[in-house]
Amino acid sequence: MAIVNTSVPITSESCNRMILQLLESYPFLRSELLTNTAFQRPIRTLVIGTGPRKVLYTAAHHANEWLTALILLKFCEEFAQAITENGKIFGVDAKALARQATVYLVPMVDPDGVDLVVGAIQPGSIQYDLAQRLSQDYPEIPFPNGWKANLLGVDLNLQYPAGWLQAREIKFSQGFTQPGPRDYVGRAPLNQLETKALAGYTEFLDPALVLAFHSQGKEIYWQFGDFFVPGAKELAEEFARVSGYAVADTPYASGFAGYKDWFIQYFRKPGFTIEVGQGENPLPIEQFPEIYRDNLGILVTAATGI
Ligand SMILES: [Zn+2]
Repeated sequence: MAIVNTSVPITSESCNRMILQLLESYPFLRSELLTNTAFQRPIRTLVIGTGPRKVLYTAAHHANEWLTALILLKFCEEFAQAITENGKIFGVDAKALARQATVYLVPMVDPDGVDLVVGAIQPGSIQYDLAQRLSQDYPEIPFPNGWKANLLGVDLNLQYPAGWLQAREIKFSQGFTQPGPRDYVGRAPLNQLETKALAGYTEFLDPALVLAFHSQGKEIYWQFGDFFVPGAKELAEEFARVSGYAVADTPYASGFAGYKDWFIQYFRKPGFTIEVGQGENPLPIEQFPEIYRDNLGILVTAATGI
């Protein structure tokens, strides 16, 4: 029976439970605790493969994009199962892939925010009240469904030192000048536990490539500013081919201080934001099978390289 349940929304608790169950069923998987959040939720990694090509995939940087966490967990389970059965994943021999690459997964970068959106934080609790208070200055943003930030009201994908001051200027001019449901950059880059831990982990690993899963739009972003990254365009085009998604230019207003922006600037290696699915966040869980099908080729191709 499948461990990763993709028919119900994921919570931080079910995410951790599934990670631990995967570790138990597939002893060759590894996991690390990246950090605990301000509200004491763990951020765990899952690691599969032993090969020299290191790649790092992240998801759920944004609370109401929790569906993306399930993509990485499901991928890990299918990959692990295929290794056990001498099978293939997206047509690639799983054991050979595991010898070629090591895939580091951070399925849920924002567990505090995810729990708010999926209803794992009860109305009337201290954490719920705190978030509700922060959202009061943004009545046009639905609560809690429009929540993207962590529970301190900081947008974790506007926290990276890559054009952070530009991001601050843009978001401030749009009225996001204080902690809230989305688009607040924080007082300084990497001053949140989640982003600090993920940036540190990325520096430690020095991966050949990163993927950051977001929703929605069925688009692939691969550029930051004018930085030229050898092979990035070719990979983006291959991702588009295997997924049916479109290679896109990042809109100017969201073109700074994101995780992939920082990775591109700092490492000069390919970093991608994949905007999965179509519709209003949070995307309905019913879209999961189609989204997973579309993205499996990206997950495998990023690990093999081209
Ligand atoms: Zn996002």
